[in-house]
Amino acid sequence: MSKEGIEKLIRPNLAAFGGYCAAKSPETLAKKIGIAVEKIIKLDANENPYGCSPRVNKALASYPYLSTYPDAGQTELREQLEGYTGIDAGNIVAGSGSDELIDLILRLFIKPGDEVINCPPTFDMFRFSTQIGEGTLVEVPRDEGFAVSVRAVKEAITTKTKIILLANPNNPTGTLTPRQDILEILKIGLPVVVDEAYYEFSGETVAPLVKQYPNLMVPRTFSKWAGLAGLRVGYGIFPTKIASYLMAIKPPYNVNMAALVAVRESLADVDYLMSTVKKIIAERERLFGELKKFSWLKPFPSQANFIFASVLKGEAKELQQKLQSKGILIRYFDLPYWRDGVRISVGKPEQTDALVKALQEIGEKINV
Ligand SMILES: *Cc1c(COP(=O)(O)O)cnc(C)c1O
Repeated sequence: MSKEGIEKLIRPNLAAFGGYCAAKSPETLAKKIGIAVEKIIKLDANENPYGCSPRVNKALASYPYLSTYPDAGQTELREQLEGYTGIDAGNIVAGSGSDELIDLILRLFIKPGDEVINCPPTFDMFRFSTQIGEGTLVEVPRDEGFAVSVRAVKEAITTKTKIILLANPNNPTGTLTPRQDILEILKIGLPVVVDEAYYEFSGETVAPLVKQYPNLMVPRTFSKWAGLAGLRVGYGIFPTKIASYLMAIKPPYNVNMAALVAVRESLADVDYLMSTVKKIIAERERLFGELKKFSWLKPFPSQANFIFASVLKGEAKELQQKLQSKGILIRYFDLPYWRDGVRISVGKPEQTDALVKALQEIGEKINV
């Protein structure tokens, strides 16, 4: 069959779909610029620079049951998460990263043509999963300080609106939406996702409100605070009914055996993990101060483990490229509403030092 032939058979909305622009692997980059992979400073994916709990490596090294399927009902996992969150296991569903949960939520509510309210610049997986499901993305851009306008959200609602998506704190900006604003959005009555991927860094949550609001959904993840991005495990806190529907439509073995072991060990080592979170928060504040010293950068205060900065002189893309050639990875997206900004994950102090030195060198050349 010719290429055109197969394209005719592919779902029309996917035939021209651009996909998601994921972070480059350090291995690929190391090869490209000719430096050792250990030397790469990876500040592009909001990972925990201190890694996962050492208990995870130890438990996985000798785990005997990798040849059996994981528990499709996630019974023990959900009980452990009940212990961690203080919310009943019946309100919890786990996924292969919270990315999968976001996708499952949209599959549950969206049919082609339904409208999804999104507040960019924000997490691009919201757009990704909406468009794959043929939902229509309705964008309500954030203001200059990256705050969500509740009034604008309300004005964007039509008879086709099915769901409202919010990341809190927001990725890439680190902005926290005030609880009062979230309550006002919840009171509209439509399904609302409050993505708390960075909850451990912000300390703010609306998760307990799932008992009061049958329309509230709160996905979270082990990727960022617990250093388990590579194992793909997230969970969400839901009203009981939505949790049952999600359990019914999720792929049965969506959380793999290694991830189950890793969560168990991580939750037995929360004090250690939170000590790394504390270090990252302290370093975030130091990084913010350092970035502010550059007249050509405008960093925004963040409640997460990264900082968004507008590039006032030159282009964000250029800055990302220059840092990359020095072995430092940061994020820049070629997306609307990014307003020439970069997102820098908070690393270890020595990584901040290397970044600052590189920025000084780059700054001298752009003559500011
Ligand atoms: C990183 C991130 C996620 C995805 O996390 P995974 O569990 O690794 O899929 C979800 N939401 C936001 C806002 C994120 O930044």
